[in-house]
Amino acid sequence: MVDPTSDIGEDISEEDAPECAVCSKRIVQLPTHRVITTVEDGQIEHVHFCSADCRSNYLD
Ligand SMILES: [Zn+2]
Repeated sequence: MVDPTSDIGEDISEEDAPECAVCSKRIVQLPTHRVITTVEDGQIEHVHFCSADCRSNYLD
């Protein structure tokens, strides 16, 4: 069953979308989406940001 309303490409619903670690905005197909990888207690974590600005705020 094909859903004609779904976008081609990324298959992420808004509920599954990551949140910006700085401003908590949902990141859905944002071209400015940035991800950094950190290691916490031996666990790899991906930290998402809606923009390079939020990423630099986080890293400061
Ligand atoms: Zn943000």
